[in-house]
Amino acid sequence: MRRKHVHKYHKVELEGGYSVWACSYCNHYMPQHLERLIPGRQSLCWNCGETIVLNAMNMKYDKPTCEECAPNADKQVSQLVKQLETGKSIDEILALISDKSK
Ligand SMILES: [Zn+2]
Ligand SMILES: [Zn+2]
Repeated sequence: MRRKHVHKYHKVELEGGYSVWACSYCNHYMPQHLERLIPGRQSLCWNCGETIVLNAMNMKYDKPTCEECAPNADKQVSQLVKQLETGKSIDEILALISDKSK
């Protein structure tokens, strides 16, 4: 794929025991010393193909996914973070989240 695209990052193991984030469509990859530049960059969900923004949460996985495709535990954490931003108390938020999963 040569035309402009959103890089689809995944973590690739290299010889020597270290890994870099590389695009699966082109030759682009992020050298390890520049890895801190990756959060905030666009990528594509490895499950559904939606455009996502890479962050500490989805970069835990070698093939990052969008929030919808993330494992349940991660969904709950990101819900929690969103609710915290609205200024609710932890008790209110926990009640909300446990209601939703019923
Ligand atoms: Zn690319
Ligand atoms: Zn997805």
